[in-house]
Amino acid sequence: MSSVYTKTLNKLIEEFSKLPGIGPKTAERLVFHILKAGQSEAMALAEAIKDVKTKIKRCQICYNFSEEPICSICSDPRRDKSLICVVEQPKDVIALEKTGACKWVYHVLGGHIAPLEGVEPEHLAINKLVERVRSGNVKEVIMATNPNLAGDGTTLYISSLIKSTGVKITRLARGLPTGSTIEYASGKMLTDAIIGRQELD
Ligand SMILES: [Zn+2]
Repeated sequence: MSSVYTKTLNKLIEEFSKLPGIGPKTAERLVFHILKAGQSEAMALAEAIKDVKTKIKRCQICYNFSEEPICSICSDPRRDKSLICVVEQPKDVIALEKTGACKWVYHVLGGHIAPLEGVEPEHLAINKLVERVRSGNVKEVIMATNPNLAGDGTTLYISSLIKSTGVKITRLARGLPTGSTIEYASGKMLTDAIIGRQELD
């Protein structure tokens, strides 16, 4: 980083540059914006960043982000707890919820199985899912991992673990283009995939 900046400015530019989609030029612009901003505005930003890391935890049931021990979806009495939709990331819950077509609860795995990247089944919330399914009262597990190689592999692995329980296992319909992600699919596409979900065999 150029030495025209002071050490403190350089530090903030460096931190902003680590954010996705932010290059050095944008980082500089953000830093100048903060320098010009009022004290309270800048402090509110710092405080909000701190709060995200200290207040947001994982729901004890579904592992989605939550500020309470049990998230708002798991504690919603209108949700059908016998339907568990399995996703890779909290972002996928948001994408599916935006369709308004989901009356189920979720299970957030925390990623997909990727041995080459060092992600093994035990690094994901897979055992917790199996426990949930085995605990009874579950009628259907809807696999909504991403329609790509890693997502499909994760779904196959999970279905091999829970098949013996006799619980119905379905997969979102193949209207979603192969290789795409739940996160970036359109609401219409997701709704069609939810309605047209098919049983795994
Ligand atoms: Zn939850």
